[in-house]
Amino acid sequence: MLDILENITKGKGKKGDIEELEHLAGWTKKGSLCGLGKTAPNPVLSTLKYFRDEYEAHINGVCPTGKCQDLITYSVNDKCIGCTLCVQKCPVDAIPFTPHEKHFINTELCIKCDACRAVCPEDAIDVR
Ligand code: SF4
Ligand code: SF4
Repeated sequence: MLDILENITKGKGKKGDIEELEHLAGWTKKGSLCGLGKTAPNPVLSTLKYFRDEYEAHINGVCPTGKCQDLITYSVNDKCIGCTLCVQKCPVDAIPFTPHEKHFINTELCIKCDACRAVCPEDAIDVR
């Protein structure tokens, strides 16, 4: 179950994963004699119950909350005023220094640390 969950968060989820998780969770509960085994699958079952659409979104390559690093990309939107704060905070020089102009992020270099989004005063960093 952990392998399946980790694959889903890395964008390697596939059709049938949700059903397989439900199948494994059910048999883990049925096959366990102690309370630990009977309740261990509950986090998976309850998140499947209340957040199934998020599982499906991840399997389709989208992280709705922008938290799974392998599924997101940082970019600069039109609100950018060219203040250069993001450039100064980026630890890998993924944003070229272009004062007073709209900035852009080199996604080849970006390590998705979130520093630029946190420092931007204009909400000009998109995470999708
Ligand atoms: S911090 Fe925000 S407004 Fe300033 S240059 Fe970077 S993206 Fe643009
Ligand atoms: S997320 Fe981090 S590494 Fe990527 S551009 Fe922003 S500051 Fe740089």
